Amino acid sequence: MINLDFPRCDRCGDAGCKVGEPGKFKSCPTNVSEIKKEEIIERYHDPEIQVLMQTAAKVERGTLQPVNGVLTPIRPRISEIMAFADQMGWKKIGVAFCLAAREDGIKLTKVLEARGFEVCSVICRNFSMKKGEFGISKDDCIKSENETVCNPVYQAELLNQAGTQLNIVLGLCVGHDMLFTKHSKAYVTTLSVKDRMTANNPVAPLYSGFFAEILKKY
Ligand code: SF4
Ligand code: SF4
Repeated sequence: MINLDFPRCDRCGDAGCKVGEPGKFKSCPTNVSEIKKEEIIERYHDPEIQVLMQTAAKVERGTLQPVNGVLTPIRPRISEIMAFADQMGWKKIGVAFCLAAREDGIKLTKVLEARGFEVCSVICRNFSMKKGEFGISKDDCIKSENETVCNPVYQAELLNQAGTQLNIVLGLCVGHDMLFTKHSKAYVTTLSVKDRMTANNPVAPLYSGFFAEILKKY
């Protein structure tokens, strides 16, 4: 019987699974789930999944290198993405960027091209579609129903048509990023997400005072 309040690894306390000791927490999913470990292992036998898992490990290993005897990250996420693509043999990369992240998009495509990738890029406001065309009410518009709206489905379709082998999301809004990911045929990795308040550092409010009262209470 599946408990509706399950799984809740956030309540575990020690994450013993990291060191091969899962299950001290009484509701540890690895103890009580109806999904068996063998079934999940079987899923990873899919050759495509296997290659991605092996590549992810290789990239992680390449990033964490000993420096003065301490394992230290030696490259940023952008370099990890390129290393991942190299490893996978992916030559053509799509960049789906937000108007607000246009500068980032321009710089990112330069870096990708300099490393020898073929790049396709699509901004979010393509087709200049208006919010009114989507039945978005005036109350939900910033100024009016005539303002342009993001078009993540088209971003995905254009990159699908271009045959990109990996798509990078850059600063798309909440929701638009979901639609892009759902409609992209290629795997999607996110380089940045839009957070208008935190200069795209969305976890900052968890460490600033923003949610402090809530975090103290619960
Ligand atoms: S030990 Fe179990 S409950 Fe705790 S984090 Fe790991 S899987 Fe979740
Ligand atoms: S959608 Fe058209 S106008 Fe907008 S950034 Fe791309 S090329 Fe320029």
